[in-house]
Amino acid sequence: MNLLLKFGNGNSKLAPNIFTFSLPAGYACPGANNCKSQCVKTSEGYRIKDGPNCQFRCFASIDEVLKPAVREARWHNFNLLKGKTKAQMVALIQASLPYPNWKFMVRLHVSGDFFSQPYFDAWVEVARLNPQIIFYGYTKSLPFWIARLGSIPKNLRLSASLGGVHDRLMFVHNMKRALVVYSEAEAEDLGLEIDHDDSHVYDGTENFALLLHGTQPEGSEATKAWTALKKIGKGGYRNQKKGRGWGGKDYAGQPLPKNYGGGTPPPSGMLTVAHGWKGKRGTAPSTAGVTLTKKTLVSA
Ligand code: SF4
Repeated sequence: MNLLLKFGNGNSKLAPNIFTFSLPAGYACPGANNCKSQCVKTSEGYRIKDGPNCQFRCFASIDEVLKPAVREARWHNFNLLKGKTKAQMVALIQASLPYPNWKFMVRLHVSGDFFSQPYFDAWVEVARLNPQIIFYGYTKSLPFWIARLGSIPKNLRLSASLGGVHDRLMFVHNMKRALVVYSEAEAEDLGLEIDHDDSHVYDGTENFALLLHGTQPEGSEATKAWTALKKIGKGGYRNQKKGRGWGGKDYAGQPLPKNYGGGTPPPSGMLTVAHGWKGKRGTAPSTAGVTLTKKTLVSA
């Protein structure tokens, strides 16, 4: 069994040199509400189950139904993290980070969210330990973030995501927020730019919109909107220009190793810690006061 976390790299929306980290949609999202849907096992195979207040279906849960490897990787990560202390999670994430010495970005939670305060705090600590990496993502787990306002390192960049059970808090604390819209016209009416490549999360300071994505609950307003978006060629990222990459350079302008982000690890010597990507493992480091051993990786 792979004892390290699995990171993805690039997707149809993001540049290949942005790594991604995910957990199971709807299961690791305590703040989910209007977006909530889950991939559930039924006698007929894996199916989508919408939450009671689902208005726009979570695209990540659809992916889990369609792609077993995606579903398994997310559960692998969740099962490794659940029940661990903050220090154990920090050690595990540190050991699993791909290319820790290089300047790259990690998109947190293409699927899933911060599922507990210790887990949120673990990413805060990992960001502090890796100032060369930008970690960014959306969250509906606002109480965990609010509890640490004022102590978030500048390389951990978050946007509050509307449609959760804690929406009120983002207005109380004036947090930068993202809203799912059903059309480009709706975004324009609201005076919001639509984000296509996550740059509004890792770079922007203003509120922004995200265009509805994926098959939606039958008969819902979201279904009509999704059909209309597909008709005008806005349904999906496949034909869209990929997010800003760095053209073979890291975000500080330094050339990246050959094949960086293309599936081949850098030459030996460049890695100082193990990485879980493509199932490879190396020497585990000692971080945050915790010596990483097999035992600390698996123990609750
Ligand atoms: S919080 Fe994100 S991953 Fe979780 S159900 Fe909502 S949209 Fe999906």
